[in-house]
Amino acid sequence: MAESKRVFIAYTGGTIGMRLSDQGWVPEEGFLEAAMRRVPVFSDGRVPSWDLVEFHPLLDSASIAPRDWIKIARAIRERYDDYDGFVVLHGTDTMAYTASALAFMLEGLGKPVILTGSQIPLCEARNDAQDNLVTSILLAGLYPIPEVCLYFHSKLLRGCRSVKVDSEGFAAFDSPNLPPLGVSGTEIEIDWRRVRPPGSSGFSVHESLDTAQGVLWLFPGITGEIVRNFLAPPLRGVVLQAFGVGNGPANDADFLAALHEARDRGVVLVDCTQCLRGGVHLGDYATGSAMAEAGAVSGHDMTPEAALTKLFFLFGQGHTPAEVEELVQRDLRGELTLPVASGPEPATD
Ligand code: ASP
Repeated sequence: MAESKRVFIAYTGGTIGMRLSDQGWVPEEGFLEAAMRRVPVFSDGRVPSWDLVEFHPLLDSASIAPRDWIKIARAIRERYDDYDGFVVLHGTDTMAYTASALAFMLEGLGKPVILTGSQIPLCEARNDAQDNLVTSILLAGLYPIPEVCLYFHSKLLRGCRSVKVDSEGFAAFDSPNLPPLGVSGTEIEIDWRRVRPPGSSGFSVHESLDTAQGVLWLFPGITGEIVRNFLAPPLRGVVLQAFGVGNGPANDADFLAALHEARDRGVVLVDCTQCLRGGVHLGDYATGSAMAEAGAVSGHDMTPEAALTKLFFLFGQGHTPAEVEELVQRDLRGELTLPVASGPEPATD
């Protein structure tokens, strides 16, 4: 049964296939596939059959850039009809950015795209690579989840909700604002109620990305001058990593003026929270209302990775700043939770 399913593996690099060199861990051509061929489970019929294509050069994901997201998206598009699902092997450092970007770039997805990697390479005696890889191949081949997901250490996460939360532990990823789409224990259990339905418009790939975007982490003492410099051209959009529910130093007129000036030039200001969990409510405090008055729009509970790559995607689609402001607040791929409209209290009698 498993063998009759076909999975395409795009190997971009990362620790999972690295070997130790004099300079530390490095990816090496051919090394991962050779290691996989030596482990029986990968070829004895218990997992779907797979083909692996190695990217050139193999990268530590700290060096992954938007051009590599485009390469991954193209590799999937070219083989879309030939496989039941797709696994992207990727370093952990920027995997959440790639998962978020691919969620926007791959529209109308009808098959699983599972990103994974590991904290310890497959060639090591003690490793998390084998389970991450075996389970990802099973998920991609046997579970028709039409989403870009990230599988790591027993959790299947929506890609555009994922964040790297641990630089050392095996449980390196989480999606703090959305429970996992699935968990693997003695069984693989998918929470199908959370899985988005397949796209009705047919599958298409958006390759055009506008990378003149940034992320600005607010901190006590940030000045109008710093903000002005950061928001200077060519920047077109910024994710403001603000305090708590989206607040900023509203008693600093020059800070607010710097935001205003950028907005007047057409820079889109997306207010997100520095907190790992929870979202933005710009009306709750005067310090949040001031951010809205300066022109910031709510990023709701988006991760910075999702908000940034959404700006890459929306500006890349040629939208005007006003359209981007509107679309960035909408749920396009399950990347944000919209606030529940508060109506009148229901009658109790
Ligand atoms: N630096 C590595 C990378 O992101 C770390 C990893 O793969 O876990 O490629």
